[in-house]
Amino acid sequence: MGEEMAARKAQEVREEIRRFAEQLRRKVYAEGHPDWGTLFSEIEELGVQIGDAVCREFVEQAVGQQACTGGECGREHRCPTCDGPVEPREAEPRPLLTRRGEIAWQEPQTYCPKCRKAFFPSVEESGHSGGR
Ligand SMILES: [Zn+2]
Repeated sequence: MGEEMAARKAQEVREEIRRFAEQLRRKVYAEGHPDWGTLFSEIEELGVQIGDAVCREFVEQAVGQQACTGGECGREHRCPTCDGPVEPREAEPRPLLTRRGEIAWQEPQTYCPKCRKAFFPSVEESGHSGGR
């Protein structure tokens, strides 16, 4: 992504967030704004909670949609025990801790018919550090 492209994307994201925040504000506050006398800390706390929830949702979706490309993941399509071909299995939800709380990552799973075992490519191999 070029610098100009990245700047335009960032601008678009800011505009989208502004619209989204407006929708949320109207949903959260009956009058569309907090009552006079509402503490700044209460407004801030709500903003933080919403921000964290947006982060978790974004990461959960992005990680779930992350495409397997390149030679690195081709390796995972062989059985780690017998090096034979494996079959894809339905993904299993696995908790993944982000800096903004826990999400459910749909972990891809493969099955080796020869060894009769299911395998989970490890978090590290899939490029997810799982939060620090
Ligand atoms: Zn095997």
